[in-house]
Amino acid sequence: MNILLLGAPGSGKGTQSEFLCEKNNYIHLSTGDLFRKNIGNETELGVLAKSYINKGILVPDEVTNKMVEEYLKDNSDNVIFDGYPRNVEQAKELDKMLNSINKMLNCVVYLDIDDSVLIDRIVNRVVCPVCKRSYHLINRKPKVANKCDFDNADLQSREDDKLDKVSKRLETYNNQTKPLIDFYKDRLIKINANNKKPIEVYKDIIEALKK
Ligand code: AMP
Repeated sequence: MNILLLGAPGSGKGTQSEFLCEKNNYIHLSTGDLFRKNIGNETELGVLAKSYINKGILVPDEVTNKMVEEYLKDNSDNVIFDGYPRNVEQAKELDKMLNSINKMLNCVVYLDIDDSVLIDRIVNRVVCPVCKRSYHLINRKPKVANKCDFDNADLQSREDDKLDKVSKRLETYNNQTKPLIDFYKDRLIKINANNKKPIEVYKDIIEALKK
């Protein structure tokens, strides 16, 4: 089963992807992580992507779609799509790509969360550069300050999580990504992600997927 985790920046898509992959047989496709890997390796794609990511806007569709198409050549079953598709054009393209290999996006889990919670989550987020797990400086602290629980790497803040970039990212989400809620209405599961621990949200997702 292929699942899209849909939600605003800071809604917990990365954390829920982590749970779904650790506790089940899923593969995590995060286009944001793929771009950041390319940025770290200073590839041509990375240089291009950085110029968009640092402005809080989307990397052009043709670049992003091509990267996903490459990824799907090796992994097209039990994929958790995190951060892709991010607009209706990408959603149509993904349907085409999956159709062409007799696969589909089976369901879309929408993490519904209030705007007021998002900014706090984003600016307090630190991530492990090695395993990509994310932590919250107050609510989901690592066991040892500033070190990843799993590989002891120094945790880092994302450049685009700085407060001055966040409002543009939320605007981009509201204008371009939110219309996907309607686009996917026939396969949408809405999960209330407010005021809940990540593990509780995860349990709600698993329950909803059983139905
Ligand atoms: P994320 O890690 O999902 O928050 O993504 C970080 C940034 O990468 C976004 O703000 C975009 O600039 C870029 N990005 C990630 N996924 C996509 C996508 N599907 N389409 C275009 N840009 C993307």
